[in-house]
Amino acid sequence: MVLQPGEILVEGERIRAAGTSVEHPQGAKIIDLGDTTLLPGLIDAHVHLFLHPGAEDLQTVEESVPWRTLLAADAAKADLLAGFTAERDMGTEGAGSADTAVRNAINQGLIPGPRLRISGNAINILGGHEDAIHYNPAQHVLPNADYANSIDQLIEVIRQQHKEGSDFVKIYETGKDSIVDGELHTPYQYSEAQLGAAVEEVHRLGVTVAVHAQGEPGTLYAVQAGVTSIEHATQLSGETMRLMREKHIPAVPTFAIFDYFAQHAPSQAVAAREKAMLEVKIREFKKQIAAGVPFAVGSDVGPFPHGTQAREMELMVRYGMKPLAVLQADMMEGAKLLGWAGQIGELKPGYFADIVAVPGNPLEDITAVERVSFVMKGGAVVRQQ
Ligand SMILES: [Zn+2]
Repeated sequence: MVLQPGEILVEGERIRAAGTSVEHPQGAKIIDLGDTTLLPGLIDAHVHLFLHPGAEDLQTVEESVPWRTLLAADAAKADLLAGFTAERDMGTEGAGSADTAVRNAINQGLIPGPRLRISGNAINILGGHEDAIHYNPAQHVLPNADYANSIDQLIEVIRQQHKEGSDFVKIYETGKDSIVDGELHTPYQYSEAQLGAAVEEVHRLGVTVAVHAQGEPGTLYAVQAGVTSIEHATQLSGETMRLMREKHIPAVPTFAIFDYFAQHAPSQAVAAREKAMLEVKIREFKKQIAAGVPFAVGSDVGPFPHGTQAREMELMVRYGMKPLAVLQADMMEGAKLLGWAGQIGELKPGYFADIVAVPGNPLEDITAVERVSFVMKGGAVVRQQ
């Protein structure tokens, strides 16, 4: 997975050979990246291209979908230049299926950006975690997600989003969150039976379902139902962790967003709350590592600036994982989660030529991934220095 010193022979959009040295066919263009380490393109399994720093709920209210789509295109470019050649966009937060246009424009080469898996809007219950509940009811402010309040509605919304171009489904299962005496309290939103029906529907469509689930009992319901990944995964029961290991359901911790909110809170009271949440996450993450929970790397970038999210890997190492384990979680687990196993996430013949170069050795200093100096996606150089 890590090449230093190394050579990669690229033909078209794919890797033909990789190793300490490879064949140099006549006429091949040589790119000498000097004393750098070559890695597969970075993968972010949890992004929001349609969000930027600032109040999330107000972005839906104040900004038009066309404007947000232009910003999302800009965000996709920033992420790619930072070395992220594949991403899972975890909901447009009220921009509906506008992410279909962004993904398709990238795929057609009209705009630069990572390979994308998109979900359209996330799905949420009336009065739930992402509903617009602090506004004058007479204004009928729209939520940041699509409503579904029953099995029938879940299936209908999933089908509608599928029609509009989604690659996978994102469901909010827990929230609003509070920390009481160092323990996370968060109500669940869907029952196990409801989530099971959603899982059955995504299997019928041949897609996956990612679930925002911070605590119990919602996370247990989600893993019992057999969802694809657990987003945030702040505080999990022993039974939930056991099932995640057994069924191989990865947790996506998203430390970067929690860290950012703790450091950029608008008031001392909010800062104290965010810090308490981060402390619970750090404590529980160590338990999850010990329990053998599989991990993927997702930053939740959007509420903090696009292109800065490689910091997620630094935080995962700081809070208990080895650098190699974090890189494997990012690239190999990420590739699987995005449905591109065997295509991306490794520097192997036949894989897409998604390649980044970083200074130094990320196995010794993981922060190297925050200093990407070269990016190739599908055999095309998108950044050099
Ligand atoms: Zn998110």
